[in-house]
Amino acid sequence: MTGWVAMTHRPAYAAQMSVLRARLRRAAVKRVRQRHPWVFDQSITHLSREGEPGETVVLYDDKRKQIGLGLYDPKSPIRVRVMHHGGPISLDDAFFAQRLKAAWEAREPLLESDTDGYRVVHGENDGLGGLVVDRYASTLVVKLYSDVWWPRLDLVLRTLEEGMRPERIVLRLARNVAAHRAQDGDVVVGGPVDVHQGQHRVPFRENGLWFLADPIRGQKTGFFLDQRDNRMRVGDMSHGKRVLNVFSYSGGFSLYAARGGATEVVSLDLSQPALDDAERHFAANNDDNNVSRCIHRTVQGDAFAEMRKLAQRDERFDVVVVDPPSFAKRASEVEGALNSYRRLMRLALDLLEPDGRLVFASCSSRVDKDAFCANALEGAEEAGARLVVDDVTGHAMDHPVGFAEAAYLKAMFCRRAL
Ligand code: SAH
Repeated sequence: MTGWVAMTHRPAYAAQMSVLRARLRRAAVKRVRQRHPWVFDQSITHLSREGEPGETVVLYDDKRKQIGLGLYDPKSPIRVRVMHHGGPISLDDAFFAQRLKAAWEAREPLLESDTDGYRVVHGENDGLGGLVVDRYASTLVVKLYSDVWWPRLDLVLRTLEEGMRPERIVLRLARNVAAHRAQDGDVVVGGPVDVHQGQHRVPFRENGLWFLADPIRGQKTGFFLDQRDNRMRVGDMSHGKRVLNVFSYSGGFSLYAARGGATEVVSLDLSQPALDDAERHFAANNDDNNVSRCIHRTVQGDAFAEMRKLAQRDERFDVVVVDPPSFAKRASEVEGALNSYRRLMRLALDLLEPDGRLVFASCSSRVDKDAFCANALEGAEEAGARLVVDDVTGHAMDHPVGFAEAAYLKAMFCRRAL
């Protein structure tokens, strides 16, 4: 292993200290018994002593019965990441190695679809709360969403290195995780990322298309892998169509539409670097006749303003995809998010041909599927349009949903009723 100072996952203090124990409120006990992966700070009624980040904590009910084991996070409102529900076991190296292995083995069917860019570990949903691992061909990206993983990072890297044999592993840190023994974007195993078309990019395959991820600085871990199946469906409905992809990022939906036979695709995003990547993706797939024949235009700017301008110029599309960033990360933002979705729905309908298809997505975890769909249909009604909803889908199989809060992605596939 290069570029990384190995450290045992058992910090020196652990030898001298007593086992950390937490007693939980009734409601929290019930949630843990129902296999929920989080314990919030206010749910702890008694803590045997202050714990260190990542220390194992034993969870008890009010009758001192052990109900689970987790990792302690002193700074986070999610105070414990529950790793095991039930009686005594050891959260040792073998435990975590086994969880990692189970996660990467579960994704093996994806390889049959000419796909080597996918989520290997989806945090809580793979029994590894706060840890995400994405694969882009021979590059792995490990992203920490909680400090509890610092003492185990060496174990995680070693297990992934030995089991998956990547060329390199890049470390990414969520905003709430401070650099500790490495920084956001550090290559912690193997050599630097190669230069492709003048940029540090990792080429990978998704359903037979080439994409280029920026694992060092890109949003999330470099690509939005959760939309793979929804992109495939957009490809299937695009033959001979004009397609508008709003909030396109690096053009995931645009490429599938082009390969599916779209005559013209417009990618619209606020980020010019993301649109530059979309152009690179068209170039990288130019050997596909449909992609090379398709006219691709990019529009840089605010989606709300640019959609209005497109409508004023009387542009109309057969397929419109709207996949905005999360509008509600906090409960207080839900109302505003619902308003924004309704505005986007009205703007999208102004651009949609009378028999057009609309794909309307949301990744706001605070807005659940039912509320999202009802609100979107209200927006359509405000625009005087009647929509038929053919289907509402979620994430691709490498993003399993293990608890309610994890079902963040929903995509409505609609058509305008004449
Ligand atoms: N559909 C994309 C993922 C979209 S992520 C895919 O399949 O890969 C959300 C995108 O919205 C980001 O690329 C971000 O740059 C863009 N964005 C955020 N605010 C925006 C705004 N006001 N107008 C246009 N784009 C915006």
